[in-house]
Amino acid sequence: MTNSELSKYKSVLEAKQTDLTRLVRNREGIVIKTSPDALDEVQHATDREMAIGNLVRDSNLLRNVRRALRDIEEGSFGVCLHCEEDINPKRLAAVPWTPFCIQCQEIADRSQVDGVDNLDELLVGAA
Ligand SMILES: [Zn+2]
Repeated sequence: MTNSELSKYKSVLEAKQTDLTRLVRNREGIVIKTSPDALDEVQHATDREMAIGNLVRDSNLLRNVRRALRDIEEGSFGVCLHCEEDINPKRLAAVPWTPFCIQCQEIADRSQVDGVDNLDELLVGAA
């Protein structure tokens, strides 16, 4: 990958990092609200559940964005974290923070576990 490509990815990732940091810091949606109205309570609980879901998703994404930025610094950007093959440039252009090539991602998605930590275990289980 050329330096100009790398710096382009870096600025995309930095912008994403700024966005996500702001979203993750905003905890307003997960504050427990009480209401004398039972229906309101149900609505609050639903909203809160959704806000927590978003927060988990954004935190995971932020972790991937930070890792990608670190990879750029260390010169290992664009390499699949699992199989160590180059990630397809089209995939990288669409999701520059992805830690995996498409094959490894499919295995991770099938297992429906979001996160890098368990992937090795999952892949061992899938083999
Ligand atoms: Zn891979």
